Amino acid sequence: MIRINDILDKILEYHPDADLDIVERAYIYSARVHEGQTRLSGEPYLSHPLAVAWILATMRFDVVSIAAALLHDVIEDTHATYEEVASIFGNEVAHIVSGVTKISKLKFESAEDRQAESLRKMILAMADDLRVILIKLADRLHNMETLQFHKNESKKKRIAQETRDIYSPLASRLGIYSIKQKFDEIAFEVLYPEEFKEIEALTTSNIEEKEQYIDKVRKIIIDELEKNLIEAEVLGRYKTIPSIYEKMLKQNLKFDEVYDLIAFRVVVETIPKCYEVLGLIHNLWRPIAHKIKDYIGMPKANMYQSLHTTVIGPYGERMEIQIRTHAMDRVAKTGVAAHWSYKEGKTVDPKIVKSFEWVQNLVENQADFPEPEEFLENVKIDLFPDEVYVFTPRGDIKNLPKGSTPIDFAYSVHTDVGNTCAGAKVNSRMVPLHHKLKNGDTVEVITSNNVNPNHDWLSFVKSVRARSRIKRYIKQKDKERSLGLGREMCEKIFKKHKLNFNKLYSTDEMTEIAFRYGYKESEDLIAAVGYGKITPRQILNRFLENREEKEEKEGQENIYDESAEALFQSGEGEIIVDGLDDLLTRRGKCCNPVPGDPIIGYITEGHGITIHVKNCPNVKTSANPDRLVPASWGKTTEGTYPVRLIVFVEDRVGAAAEITGSVSESNANIAELSLKRQENGNGVRFDMTINVPNREILEKILKKIKSVKDVYEVKRIKS
Ligand code: MN
Repeated sequence: MIRINDILDKILEYHPDADLDIVERAYIYSARVHEGQTRLSGEPYLSHPLAVAWILATMRFDVVSIAAALLHDVIEDTHATYEEVASIFGNEVAHIVSGVTKISKLKFESAEDRQAESLRKMILAMADDLRVILIKLADRLHNMETLQFHKNESKKKRIAQETRDIYSPLASRLGIYSIKQKFDEIAFEVLYPEEFKEIEALTTSNIEEKEQYIDKVRKIIIDELEKNLIEAEVLGRYKTIPSIYEKMLKQNLKFDEVYDLIAFRVVVETIPKCYEVLGLIHNLWRPIAHKIKDYIGMPKANMYQSLHTTVIGPYGERMEIQIRTHAMDRVAKTGVAAHWSYKEGKTVDPKIVKSFEWVQNLVENQADFPEPEEFLENVKIDLFPDEVYVFTPRGDIKNLPKGSTPIDFAYSVHTDVGNTCAGAKVNSRMVPLHHKLKNGDTVEVITSNNVNPNHDWLSFVKSVRARSRIKRYIKQKDKERSLGLGREMCEKIFKKHKLNFNKLYSTDEMTEIAFRYGYKESEDLIAAVGYGKITPRQILNRFLENREEKEEKEGQENIYDESAEALFQSGEGEIIVDGLDDLLTRRGKCCNPVPGDPIIGYITEGHGITIHVKNCPNVKTSANPDRLVPASWGKTTEGTYPVRLIVFVEDRVGAAAEITGSVSESNANIAELSLKRQENGNGVRFDMTINVPNREILEKILKKIKSVKDVYEVKRIKS
């Protein structure tokens, strides 16, 4: 059993000036609160936190981490609270301990292969301080090392499987191969006991012969290096049992056929020496060409660096040799942890700082990732700043944008679940729909057919999926409602003119009108009536106008006399002519008056009253003054009115977007738009028809367009 003095001595080895006070206090506190608890091994529980702290000390961690390691189980397994730990040991230690506790509470039981990656990310996301993960890995390592004390076989297997699926890849990703290898080895022994025994027996058979072989090869290498005045450490070791097994499986080999069971490692001082050694080894033994890997020139994502080569050895056998510096060797063993070690008062090596870029590779959305310097200072990072990982009641993992709510979760399950989401339970407790989900939450949605998505939801959902589904639903519902209303309104007004709207509804005539108002089909046009964008009267007027035009073209006269007469018999107060508000009128196409314009009526021959802007050139020149009648706008001017504009602008990229943008910003829409490059220069002429509700808004739009850069003229067309 590890003792506290072993740990303190170890710390002083790599950091002679360390202030051990916090470690000693953590030890005393942990011993007190864990008192009376035992491990399955029968040892006092305290042996476990001590073992975990020892692992961290061998990785040369700072005193805060080691204190946290000693305390890592106190919140979960004793009466100690976060507040108490924080008040005695400070927030940093408490934060780390509570991070470890949170991860321990995650349930992986239903984890399947496809979810392993999400689980790993969830753990990384929950640990906003990387030391949390390192303590968790050390914790798991000691639990694996004492796994034999578990009586229950299936529980043992489950823990081993979880270690293999979740923790071993995490250790590998953080570059901590010393832990990863132990994870794999113990997990393999538990999961495949027979294969393990078999390979173990084979690797230990003829052990003397093998030892001799190792000694011989080491000696050849050492001699060669000494001749060339290179100081090096040379190691020969067996490959691990899982890696041998993997090789047998992958290459479909029997054990006897796996030649490179023993790998050699040469550790030197400098990088140039690594390459020198590689050259010397290739002089001794012939390399296998495609087996040379230069992870010094191109480090792995987890910062692993080394040269690997496979050569034909002294007995014609394949032999793998790794060459690296002492610094690289330490990174290979402790990965990310190598960078916590005390720098012995030295300033941080800029190369080390640069090498922290690899942590960024861990992070898929790294937009808000702090500067590497900042990372070193705080040792705190948010590895997945934009994501949150939560569980379904069945244990599936959903990955949502940070700030997501139960509604986002519901839509991630299924659109129908989202559309009927009435409430939610998070970790079995009812929460409001705008509740923000946290990593590791289990979320259960309560659905009801009496619930409908609404605008309110849009104010708090975070995921694009939820937002678009809610909008689509609301739009669809609105359209259905508006279409019904629009149809009803149109039916009524058409009926007054003895026209059957339902028959006309799907005719080309109606489609043409829809098109004139900027809609694709009559359904959209009628829905626009329901939305209040267009009045039914406008549709009727347009319809009658079109028929008249057609007649004129075809040379037929007045077959719609009756309806022409009807023009004067109804109206909805849009325009007051001669004091009457119920006359059917139409707007002059020449000048397109809009509410707010001073207007005048002109009684046409058999075609009702046309309304013109007072200063319309057509009124001035060709009108018979006897036919002019005073007109003004009534109260019920709703809907929009087309107005024609001409805009001249310098030819500039983006100008068109700015001009059309200033129209739509003002809640008007563009019905027609064409542009022509001016022959005489750089100018471009825009001809457009926009739909506006009134003159006030029209004037605002004109002003806005004028203020667009490079616009030099804006004209409203009145003839
Ligand atoms: Mn533990």
